Amino acid sequence: MGEYRVRCVKDGSEQPHFSLSCPNDDSLLRADYKAKRLDLKDFPGIWRFLDWLPVQGIIPEACQGSVTYRSLGLAGVLGLKNLFISFSGYWPEKGARMTTCSFKDLEAPPTVQRLKEKGGSPTLVVASAGNTARAFAQVASQTGQPLVLFVPEKAQKRIWTTVEPGPVKLVAVQGDYYDAITVAEKVQSRPGYVPEGGARNIARRDGMGTVMLDATLKIGRIPDHYFQAVGSGTGGISAWEACLRLNGDGRFGSNLSRLHLAQNVPNAPIYFAWKCREPDACCADMFDDVLFNRRPPFAIPGGVKDALEATKGEVYGITDNDATAAKRLFEQSEEIDILNAPGVAVAALQQAVSLGTVQSDDIILLNITGGGVERVKEDCTLHHLPPDITIEASHWEDAIEFLEAGA
Ligand SMILES: *Cc1c(COP(=O)(O)O)cnc(C)c1O
Repeated sequence: MGEYRVRCVKDGSEQPHFSLSCPNDDSLLRADYKAKRLDLKDFPGIWRFLDWLPVQGIIPEACQGSVTYRSLGLAGVLGLKNLFISFSGYWPEKGARMTTCSFKDLEAPPTVQRLKEKGGSPTLVVASAGNTARAFAQVASQTGQPLVLFVPEKAQKRIWTTVEPGPVKLVAVQGDYYDAITVAEKVQSRPGYVPEGGARNIARRDGMGTVMLDATLKIGRIPDHYFQAVGSGTGGISAWEACLRLNGDGRFGSNLSRLHLAQNVPNAPIYFAWKCREPDACCADMFDDVLFNRRPPFAIPGGVKDALEATKGEVYGITDNDATAAKRLFEQSEEIDILNAPGVAVAALQQAVSLGTVQSDDIILLNITGGGVERVKEDCTLHHLPPDITIEASHWEDAIEFLEAGA
């Protein structure tokens, strides 16, 4: 279980298990699992895919996974015969129990488990505009993993857990997500701290890849198309990598799901890079700032561009108006509340249908990356995490001083 080598995508060279980068270039690393055939384990949630996760053990408390179902409502409205929805969030009636309500709940548990297996008890550093912070706060609280979160000041209200908060420190940074990352980078290079690694972390990617695994098993074959709203595009890379592994398994077809990645214009660097255009402007307010990423892993070996080229993919630029309408359409036709980000994916699917990019009988997977926040409030108590300190982005020494005083 979980036996693998870690290789650079560019030159195939084997690297130490816990590396985050390649020695010769900026290539991503990828896990090369010993098991070529996916043998499901008798564990809950994502852990049944342990063969293709870079961990040896599981976190039994973090037992959720995405749920795939055949759409009737939205499929009917769009005239699609084989629309499947992967839902990551809280919707117990459908079997979905991610209490922090986004597919970051697929990334945080394998990352924390892997850190535990690495040893040395470091403090994990995470910078996030909301969903990633919630997911890591939850699993850190469940496992006692020390964690420092760097969050833009205006996102701090979104940081909560549904379990008693554990050893989690919250640093609110005045500024945007990029400012929070800049401060986090100063801290994570100090002894005793480790970065979570973002797109470079194979545990995050292979955790997200379980969306494609779960869907393929449910459908019986690799879908023709995969729709997702992206910020960094890591979910797109993960879906591609999962397809490559499923091709190797042989039982589910030999196609690669065509990636249809959606971004919110004008904050859409992947869209502009793919379309070879420069963004006209960058504005602070956007439909969902969890999709904000100024430095996506686009052109690096094994990154988003390679994933799009390999899968003959497409990128969509979605306006706030289209995303708002699409979100409402989804909520009415599927009867669950969703986050703004997946509204952007629904709008991309609508565009693809009207342009004829997808056909009515194609097998389509729509990744609803977050939802059920209203639903979870009915069942769970939300424990809001107040900031332990608020700092100016240029005064990152204040964060270090605070953390070291508390240590
Ligand atoms: C993080 C996030 C995304 C974007 O994910 P990528 O890392 O760019 O693949 C989309 N939707 C939600 C709800 C998210 O939290």
